Amino acid sequence: MRPMSPTLRKILLLALAGFGAACCCGLLVVLAAGGVAGYQLGFLVPAEPTLSPEQTTAKMAEIEAFVQATRGLTPTTPVALEFLTPDEVRQKTIADFEEDTTPQEMADGALSLAAFGLMDADVDLYSLLVDLYSDGIAGFYDPDSQQMVVVSGGSFNAYERTVYAHEYTHALQDQTFGIRASGFSDEMYLADPERFNAVQALLEGDASVLEGQYLNTYGPLERGYYNKIVNDVSSIPAVYYQLPRFLLQDFVFPYREGKAFVQHYYDQGGWARVDQLWNDPPVSSEQIMHLERFEAGDDPLLVARPPLTDTLGSGWRQIDTGVNGEWFTYLILAYGEYSDYHLEEDVARAAAEGWGGDGYSVFYNAAGDETVLAAEWQWDTPADAAEFAAAFREYGDKRFGVVGRAAGGGSCWLTTTSNCLYTTATGTLWLAAEQQATLDALLALFPAYGPP
Ligand SMILES: [Zn+2]
Repeated sequence: MRPMSPTLRKILLLALAGFGAACCCGLLVVLAAGGVAGYQLGFLVPAEPTLSPEQTTAKMAEIEAFVQATRGLTPTTPVALEFLTPDEVRQKTIADFEEDTTPQEMADGALSLAAFGLMDADVDLYSLLVDLYSDGIAGFYDPDSQQMVVVSGGSFNAYERTVYAHEYTHALQDQTFGIRASGFSDEMYLADPERFNAVQALLEGDASVLEGQYLNTYGPLERGYYNKIVNDVSSIPAVYYQLPRFLLQDFVFPYREGKAFVQHYYDQGGWARVDQLWNDPPVSSEQIMHLERFEAGDDPLLVARPPLTDTLGSGWRQIDTGVNGEWFTYLILAYGEYSDYHLEEDVARAAAEGWGGDGYSVFYNAAGDETVLAAEWQWDTPADAAEFAAAFREYGDKRFGVVGRAAGGGSCWLTTTSNCLYTTATGTLWLAAEQQATLDALLALFPAYGPP
């Protein structure tokens, strides 16, 4: 579920500004502490001298040589680079948004996320994402134009040089393995979103590990300049504090979980081992989160995305359909909009683990302002299914209230919108609708889950 992805697919390969891609976990610490928990080590470090244009060109060549030699990849063509100011990045982001997505799609995305409890429906997702992709990025590589962009205030400072190493790694990945051909494409996002997410984690993990290696070449003074920039809490873009919790988690997933995934294989066999990953990429968020699932070839089960059009009839339109994967299953349980219905971290993780596959659809009726949700999961074992069902009942009690809960072949929480969980030996089905008749009609589409 990534309704924000039409844009994410386009303006991609973000590096994280203000706190450094190498330490995005640091941001989470700062946020968790409620703000200024940062370090103030910078005052001992003198201001970094601005590089002349000639020095900048020389530095870039030096970084490119380092990345080529270290990563062990040779460019087939020179890579174009553009420096953009933060204002120019915002212009470009807005232009890309206008080209790629409509306000309607954004509103639909918000409604779908609200049905899953991840966000309030009235959040202005459009403004939030424009801010995130403008103020929240340090650079990107665009596989369509095959250009790198580094966001710069005019210097080529110690932080921007690590961004350059990161983005240049993407360029070499693209020339060697083909980023689009590897599955980071619109087509793959629509056909197999879990595979798309796994490939994104691989390419960001790869570039983040390399970026870390480049950072390790810094001597004490250069490291001081770098630390001064990334530890400057005041430079953390305000938008990070405004993001719904799940969105921040999802934003860092490729850089954090993806980096841990790639680092493991790098430690095992260097960059040659990482190259092998590109020839046989991971195919799900589950495989990124659990190396043993990747190595066991535990590929996702195909679960049909519920086709509700005929059942719901006229006036209804599909506003979202996709696959939650283990990652979003976990986010739903642990990172909803309101902490009242967050499950404990370890409970949510354990509940999402054992994911076999899933599919969901969300429909909307504008006349009645009504949303309908159908989400089915298949689990590896009956124990995994039972564990998720137990966790979901806890989640349901917290989110919808224990009082309304009634049995009827499943566990139903009857509020303005009724939410029901049905189970089979290895499956779980979440249905949500306002009318009992609608719930009955939806349930009839899943005969395996019928009333006992
Ligand atoms: Zn990147």
